[in-house]
Amino acid sequence: NGVVTVFKKHDTEASPGGGAARVLAEAKGISVSFGPLEVVKQVDLTVPKGEVVAIIGPSGSGKSTFLRCFNYLQPPTKGTLEIDGDVVIDSGRKPTNADLLKLRRKVGMCFQSFNLFPHLTAVENIDLAQVSALGRSKSDARSRSMELLKRVGLEAKANTKPARCSGGQQQRIAIARALALDPEMMLFDEPTSALDPELGHEVLAVMRELASSGMTMIIVTHEMRFAEGVADRIMFMADGKAVEVGEPKQVLREPIHERTQKFLKMVF
Ligand code: ADP
Ligand code: MG
Repeated sequence: NGVVTVFKKHDTEASPGGGAARVLAEAKGISVSFGPLEVVKQVDLTVPKGEVVAIIGPSGSGKSTFLRCFNYLQPPTKGTLEIDGDVVIDSGRKPTNADLLKLRRKVGMCFQSFNLFPHLTAVENIDLAQVSALGRSKSDARSRSMELLKRVGLEAKANTKPARCSGGQQQRIAIARALALDPEMMLFDEPTSALDPELGHEVLAVMRELASSGMTMIIVTHEMRFAEGVADRIMFMADGKAVEVGEPKQVLREPIHERTQKFLKMVF
C-alpha cells in the first residue's frame, strides 16, 4: 500500500489498515516564548504508539520546555498538540480543567527531581493519585502499587519513607507512581542527571524494561549510549530548533548537520 516500513526496536501497534503505527502524540509547529525570548521554535514531532524518542542537545536548547508542552506544564505560545487523537492542546485556546485532567492521566512524567511526598512511605506515594485522580478504592490502589513496586524492583521498600531510600530508588518509586495512573505515554526529563552513575544505571534499566514492554516514551537525556540503545528515534535540539531527527545510528554516528557534529564531538 505504499507505506514505507522502517525498522523499529519496539513493536509499534499496527493500524487497522496495516502499515504505519497509530500516532499517539503529534506536536505541530510548537513555539514557546518567555517574554521577547523565543526558546522553542516551530518544533514538530510525531510519535507512533510504542515508539521511544530521545531528545538530546546542549543545555538551554529548549528540550525541557518542549517536553513539558506534552502535558501542558508548559503552555505553548504557538502550535498544536494532539495526544491519542483525543486531547488537543491549541495555543489559541485555553484548555478546560477537564481537558487537563484527561491529558495528565494519559501522559505521565518523571523529572530530574523526584518530588515524592517525604511524610508518606513509598507505597503510600504510589497509592495517592490512584485514589484522588482515578477514584480507585484504597485496596485496589494498594495492590496496583505493590505490583508496580515489584516491577521496579522495590517491593522491599514499600513501607520505607523516601529519605531512607537512595536517589536511584526514589526515582524508581517516582516512575512507579507515574505508571500507577496507567498512562498512554511517559515523559522523562533527565531522570538520571541528579544521580551517581551507578544509581543512574538502575533507573535506566527500569526505563529499558518499560520501553521493551511497549510504552510510548519521550526522554530528554544526556546519556548518549542509553539513547542509542533504547530509542527508535533521536531528535537533536539546538537554539530552540529541532536540528536533526532520525534513527539513533544516523544521528549519533553519522550526523548530517554541523551543529549536531559539534555537539556530539564534545559529549559522545
Ligand atoms: P534545556 O532543557 O535544553 O536545558 P530549557 O528548556 O530548560 O533548556 O530552557 C531553554 C531556555 O529557556 C533557556 O534559555 C532557559 O533559561 C529559558 N527558560 C526556561 N524556562 C523559563 C522560564 N520559566 N522563564 C524564562 N526563561 C525560561
Ligand atoms: Mg532541561
